[in-house]
Amino acid sequence: MPRRSPLETGEPTTEEKRDARVILNRLKKRYPQMGTALAYTDAWHLLVATVLSAQTTDENVNKVTPVLFDRWPTAHDLAAADPEQVEEVIFSAGFYRQKTKSIVALSADLVERFDGVVPQELEELVTLHGVGRKTASVVLAEAWGIPAIAVDTHVKRVTNRLGITHSSDPTKIELELRDLYPMDHWSGVSMRIIQFGRDVCDARRPRCWECPLADRCAYPEKALRPEGG
Ligand code: SF4
Repeated sequence: MPRRSPLETGEPTTEEKRDARVILNRLKKRYPQMGTALAYTDAWHLLVATVLSAQTTDENVNKVTPVLFDRWPTAHDLAAADPEQVEEVIFSAGFYRQKTKSIVALSADLVERFDGVVPQELEELVTLHGVGRKTASVVLAEAWGIPAIAVDTHVKRVTNRLGITHSSDPTKIELELRDLYPMDHWSGVSMRIIQFGRDVCDARRPRCWECPLADRCAYPEKALRPEGG
């Protein structure tokens, strides 16, 4: 039976924490070293790259960011950029008009309120134009190693299937995961679950037949063999 979510029961029980640790340990075995695949040299570059990564692959982002940051290396530069020129550079990352507006407005906001320096507090990061908790958490965890849990579509799907949560609200899931894991494990949680969601626990056809967590998972629509197998 799926466990009730910690928010439904109050604080997670010792058993729920132990189960969550077992899941993380197995993911650590599969993914000993985890980090973002986005290329970056500082927090500012990672912040922009993370915004650009919406609806596309990290590989696509990594193809455009070297040119982007070569022409506009700082938030001050990008805030003053001609949007049409930015659109040309990031075109292949998809949704280029909207993404150009987002990164130019984000740059202007960062310059105006933080003198172009990316803040290291979640509460400040999420006040920036277009920056949500997921993006802020990626930047905190990856750029500075500050404990943070980013909840994206993969984390939402996998944690629900595993019964760790029964919420569809990313903020609630983030808070539940914070309660389940010690703070020094937070940063490794997201990246491993995201990679696992990409490799194994696929949205449409999870590869349950090769899943190292199958015995911990109560998802009723498990795919127990490959198609045609
Ligand atoms: S058993 Fe299937 S649904 Fe459950 S976590 Fe593994 S891949 Fe996902």
